[in-house]
Amino acid sequence: MTSVLAVHAHPDDIEHLAAGTLAVLAAAGVRIVIATLTAGECGSDATDLAQTAAIRKGEAARAATLIGADYLCADLPDLGVFNDDTCRRAVTELIRRAACDIVITASPADYHPDHEAASRLVRDACFAASVPNYRTGEAGPLAAIPHLYFMDPIGGRDREGVPVVPDFACDLGAAFATKQAMLATHESQAAWVARQHGIADHLGSMESWTRRRGRDFGVAAAEGFRQYRHQPYPKTPALQDLLGPALLTPQA
Ligand SMILES: [Zn+2]
Repeated sequence: MTSVLAVHAHPDDIEHLAAGTLAVLAAAGVRIVIATLTAGECGSDATDLAQTAAIRKGEAARAATLIGADYLCADLPDLGVFNDDTCRRAVTELIRRAACDIVITASPADYHPDHEAASRLVRDACFAASVPNYRTGEAGPLAAIPHLYFMDPIGGRDREGVPVVPDFACDLGAAFATKQAMLATHESQAAWVARQHGIADHLGSMESWTRRRGRDFGVAAAEGFRQYRHQPYPKTPALQDLLGPALLTPQA
């Protein structure tokens, strides 16, 4: 049975970039795991680190509950995600615990250092997770390297402003309302995103982006993805096949 792990750096990243697709898949009976590498404990100036971590993990877990997904957190430090031995072992243990055959993670190019580090770590941890002698903790090795996909970067552009073009997208349809509800659980972020990012309405920002991706594919709302196909990662279109009628391919 196919299952999908969506893993990104902070609580709310997945709700901006992939939650609608996860809702579509969950409605079709696919087992979903949502994971963050950090608790996002730097994402507040109103509560201390421990309080913020607890609040944000609670928000992420509530969002996951809306689609019947499990939530896991690797508890790496916010703004402290690096492509090093400690982080790679922690991320590999997380991927082993989730035990999914499709993994969707951050874009290799994105605005935040944790996002770019998360992308590399998850890519390399997908390889390491199936290596029996790579020891990480209690979870056993995966039987095979999972199918690996990247979400869009925030805003759909790399650091030089060059658009990142997805291979395919998911037509969200009615799942867009579920995506909105999942992001709305991240109540702590409304004030923080306004202060730190200058975005007065984080729900509106997500909607603008999701509708923009929809226009790119001729529908009302969509989320884009790219498949990582370097050897020895699996190249078959596992996620595309799973999307069924919601699969959108680029318009000619
Ligand atoms: Zn983030």
